[in-house]
Amino acid sequence: MKKKNRKKYDAEYYQKNKDKIKESQKKYRESHKEQLKEYKKEYRMNNLDKIREAENKREQTEERKQYKKEQRKKKITCECGKVISYGSKNKHIKTKEHLEIVNKIN
Ligand SMILES: [Zn+2]
Repeated sequence: MKKKNRKKYDAEYYQKNKDKIKESQKKYRESHKEQLKEYKKEYRMNNLDKIREAENKREQTEERKQYKKEQRKKKITCECGKVISYGSKNKHIKTKEHLEIVNKIN
């Protein structure tokens, strides 16, 4: 079977046996509760640095996102004299209004 078909087959198989699969996963989790808990704990202990790093990264990404958002909202004065938000500059410089004024200046 080709890889693509295989994927489709898996999806179909999953759809058809969704309840059965879920049920067996649940059973597995229930019967291995303690083991899974231990495993998770151990994983955390062994990967503390990695986990922390990932958390830091996530925070940094959030901060960057926030910063970009703020930047986009920042007001700037365009060369045409209009006050626009930084985020809309790319769109604004293509407007007729802007182009006309800039053409007049130059
Ligand atoms: Zn402009």
